[in-house]
Amino acid sequence: MIVDLHTHSYYSDGVLSPKDIVMKAVNAGCHFLSLTDHDSIEGLKEASICSKDLNLNFIQGVEISAKHLSQSIHIVGLGVNPYNKPLLDGLMKNNKLRINRAKEIGKSLAHAGIENAYEKTKSLSKTKYITRTHFAQMMIKEKICNNLPSVFKKYMTGNKPGAVKVDWASSVEVINWIHQSGGLAILAHPLRYKLTLTKMKKLVSELKDIGLDGIEIVNSFSSLDDIAKSKKIADEYELLYSCGSDFHGWPNQSIELGKIPLYDYGKKFVLNYL
Ligand code: AMP
Ligand code: MN
Ligand code: MN
Ligand code: MN
Repeated sequence: MIVDLHTHSYYSDGVLSPKDIVMKAVNAGCHFLSLTDHDSIEGLKEASICSKDLNLNFIQGVEISAKHLSQSIHIVGLGVNPYNKPLLDGLMKNNKLRINRAKEIGKSLAHAGIENAYEKTKSLSKTKYITRTHFAQMMIKEKICNNLPSVFKKYMTGNKPGAVKVDWASSVEVINWIHQSGGLAILAHPLRYKLTLTKMKKLVSELKDIGLDGIEIVNSFSSLDDIAKSKKIADEYELLYSCGSDFHGWPNQSIELGKIPLYDYGKKFVLNYL
C-alpha cells in the first residue's frame, strides 16, 4: 500500500495546487494522502473535494512550526478538523510571527547587500505567509545563488543573515491545538534536527509527556538504518509510526510524491488510528 502523509502545496512552500497534488498522488498509485502545509489548512478543502472525486483516501493534515525549549521542531497534525477554532487561532498566531520574521529577514538581507528582499519575495508566495523557501526562490530568480541547497547554506540557516530566529508557539500549545481539533500529533523528520541520540531521546520523552502521539519513521531518503533508528525511539516511548515524502514539487529535487521506501508498519501504523 502506498501511503504519503506529508506533502506541501502552494499554500505554503510547495509548487503545486492542492488539486495537482491529489492528481499526482492518484497517478503515483497512492492509497492514502495527506496534505500538510506549513502552519496552513488553506489547501485542505480543495484537496479533499478533489480526492473524493478521484476516489483517493484523503487525510486532513497540517505541519506546525513549534519551539521545544530552544529547539525548533515541526509537528504534523493528522486527521485534524480544519474548522476547529483553537487550531485556526493557533495557526494565526504562528502566521503573525511568520509575517514579522519575513520583514526582519528582508532587513537582515539588506545589510548583507540584497536590497528589497521582502518586497521581491512577497510576489512569489500565494499567501501573505512567506517561508524561507520563498526567499530562497527569490535569490535563485535574481541569480544570487543557483539552487535551494546553496541558498539555504549561504543565507538561510545557522547564523547566516536570512536565518532570523522565531519564537514559534511552544510544543505544548501546538500539540494541544492538534488534539483539540481531533488530530494526532506526529514529530516530523526526527533525524533532520541533527541531535545526538541522548538529546533526541530527551526531546521525544518530553514530547511524549505532553501528548505526542507518533513519529515519522520513514521519509523520502530514509535508509533501512534510519528507519530502524527512528522506530527504536518510537518503540521506547510507545509512539505510533507515520511516514511521508515531504514532497514540495521544487524543480531539480529528487523527492517524488508517494515515493518512499515501502515498509511493513504493523499494528502501530498511524493509519490504524485515524
Ligand atoms: P520556514 O518554515 O519558513 O522556516 O521554512 C522551512 C522550510 O525551508 C522547510 O520546510 C524546508 O522546506 C525548507 N528548508 C529548510 N532547510 C532547507 C535546506 N537546507 N535545503 C532546502 N530547503 C530547506
Ligand atoms: Mn517546507
Ligand atoms: Mn518540516
Ligand atoms: Mn514538510
